[in-house]
Amino acid sequence: MSAKTPNPLVAYTIEARAAKIDDPVARLRYLRQSAALRATKDAKPGRIAKWHWALGAAFLLAGIAVLPMRGVFFQPAAANTASKAPIVRRPPKLDQAALAKVADNGKIWQVESTRDYEEYSNGLRIEKKYAIGNRPRAGYRLFDRANPSATRFQMKNEIAGIVFHTTESHMAPFHKDANDSLRRAARNLLAEVQINRSYNYVIDRFGRVWRVVEESDVAWHAGNSIWADDSGIYVNLNDSFLGISFEAQTYNENKQAIATDAQIHSARLLTDMLRAKYKIAALNCATHAQVSVSMASMGIGYHTDWAGNFPFAALGLPDNYKLALPAVWAFGFDYHQTFIDATGGQPWPGLKLAEQNLQEQAALARIPAAQYKQKLQQSYKQLITALYGPIHGDEEQSNES
Ligand SMILES: [Zn+2]
Repeated sequence: MSAKTPNPLVAYTIEARAAKIDDPVARLRYLRQSAALRATKDAKPGRIAKWHWALGAAFLLAGIAVLPMRGVFFQPAAANTASKAPIVRRPPKLDQAALAKVADNGKIWQVESTRDYEEYSNGLRIEKKYAIGNRPRAGYRLFDRANPSATRFQMKNEIAGIVFHTTESHMAPFHKDANDSLRRAARNLLAEVQINRSYNYVIDRFGRVWRVVEESDVAWHAGNSIWADDSGIYVNLNDSFLGISFEAQTYNENKQAIATDAQIHSARLLTDMLRAKYKIAALNCATHAQVSVSMASMGIGYHTDWAGNFPFAALGLPDNYKLALPAVWAFGFDYHQTFIDATGGQPWPGLKLAEQNLQEQAALARIPAAQYKQKLQQSYKQLITALYGPIHGDEEQSNES
């Protein structure tokens, strides 16, 4: 997420704090260490298990392992010899599974709505205790897929997709003995998310679905971000996408499942309801790590929540890690070894697809791939500058997108 106006008095989620760290290696190390530290600090003395020590050692080793950050797949950009002529992209083709939308076939409807909750015919129950407004969603620009620029777009105002997050907040052991800690952690998290307007929905570890920012309003969840579907390219997704966060840590201490079974079950119900309500295509259900970019480093994965292991299949979605990554094919963003480490060492198939597309486009344009990529990056910077003014850093352009 990205906070609107940083307030030193407000306790931020670890994810938000991590967002302030520009260096990707340092950021990943911070996330991992925070997970370990908070787990250790918050545990009752008698409950500090041996695995905390093993975990600390593992984080230390992981931190050392990612130190030699290196770019992959791409050569360093050549000197700027790019001409002024606009480049026309040939975006990768999308398959039918990715394009599939859930038709509103009358099977999911609201059964009951009270002051405290909503219930739906598919079993979904939404708790409203923490629901709050924010700035209403505004019309947004959907940019041309072949030639995204400040002058080539159509204005849209419908919700187009969902970005999935993890809160990276404190995780008590998921056990009945820790029930009080689990309930307290959820309450504290929800209060924090409400203050910061961080997400539209939070799914706590018991699978309870909490509405925070109303669907009609913007949550500050996506930050600088890029996505694309068959109709165009989305830049900075707060106005166009809903944000759903699992109370979970992508940087899982002991390699267990990131989300609980209850969370996955509820996420399926919520996703189905929202997809039917807004006719959201399968490919527009993506994780924060897939959409997040850094303007400072022109790298993908500024945020790395759900960089791997997102339960697409369990949520009735195709594996969107296989989609050619828009930030790469549309705007030439780089990725680094740190990011590959964040995925669990398994680069998404969609990264390679996007890279292949970029190489093909460069060949068709008869210019070296590095130069072509530089032109793509230049087009992104021009677009952002035209929309928001001069680029200063990573957390400034996106909040009022
Ligand atoms: Zn996130």
